[in-house]
Amino acid sequence: MNDNPDTPVTVIGLGRMGQALARAFLKAGHPTTVWNRTASKAEQLVAEGARRAPTVADALRAGPLAIVCVTDYRAVHALLGASDVEPAGTTLVNLTSGDSAQARETARWAGQRGARYLDGAIMAVPPAVGTAEAVILHSGPRSDFEAHKPTLDALGTVTHLGADHGLASLYDVAGLAMMWSVLNAWLQGTALLRTAGVDAVTYAPFARRIAAGVAEWLPGYAEQIDSGSFPAEVSDLETDARAMAHLIEESEAVGVNAELPKLIKAMADRSIAAGHGAEQYPVLIEEFARPGDD
Ligand code: NAP
Repeated sequence: MNDNPDTPVTVIGLGRMGQALARAFLKAGHPTTVWNRTASKAEQLVAEGARRAPTVADALRAGPLAIVCVTDYRAVHALLGASDVEPAGTTLVNLTSGDSAQARETARWAGQRGARYLDGAIMAVPPAVGTAEAVILHSGPRSDFEAHKPTLDALGTVTHLGADHGLASLYDVAGLAMMWSVLNAWLQGTALLRTAGVDAVTYAPFARRIAAGVAEWLPGYAEQIDSGSFPAEVSDLETDARAMAHLIEESEAVGVNAELPKLIKAMADRSIAAGHGAEQYPVLIEEFARPGDD
């Protein structure tokens, strides 16, 4: 374990996020080497104590741990694939956003070059980096994560999800799906209520209680999904589908957008047509688990 602030770290990519990452390492006292394609973006960090490496190859030689955070995986490969770059012996932590296949492929690529590799996802905005609020997900060999966790801790709340390098990307998009679904449901309700003069601020606390209440159902529903058995303990899908029809009718009657309610009901209708009407809501996992019609 290299749990001392003297452990050197390299940050490659100094966009909005890369600068925040480098600054968090500097604040924690780590000797921090930085590199960016547009070299001027390193100037402020150098003033704050960072060392600017002239090349990616030089940046990688600066220490045992290198964080990469650029626009996309194409840029990652363009940088690390350069002929003079020798990643062997370095642990690369790639915090660039991408999909699970890119993460697994990059892990193979790094392994073939003798580098250790962790893939990661940042669930935070740059100003939160360096605080506990910044959740940073990692996947790949646990031993590599544990070896560098004391250094990575400077970035926020760092978590290891498992050995499969694709997990960080998958958790990342799962979180986005949750975020947008909750927000869209709230916006649907807000649009409905505004037709009766109820403003968003009035509805928000009510919506928040509903979201928190529904969140309480997840562990029990998850057990049904994992067991593949969906007894209708509190409601069945047929009953839910009638309420969905009501949501569509009300939306159309008061002149607000009914696309989201129609999508929700279309999935329930398919599940009912497949014979699941008497089962409980999470049986819809079977609709979510296969490609749609688009
Ligand atoms: P950004 O400000 O647009 O910076 C992009 C960085 O990528 C710059 O350092 C840029 O270099 C570099 N880059 C792009 N293409 C390159 C190439 N072909 N070769 C070398 N360098 C290249 O983006 P960002 O906000 O820092 O985001 C970086 C990553 O963090 C993205 O994957 C993003 O999805 C993820 N992320 C960002 C946020 C956020 O709120 N900003 C939150 C979570 C995750 P130049 O300076 O030379 O152009």
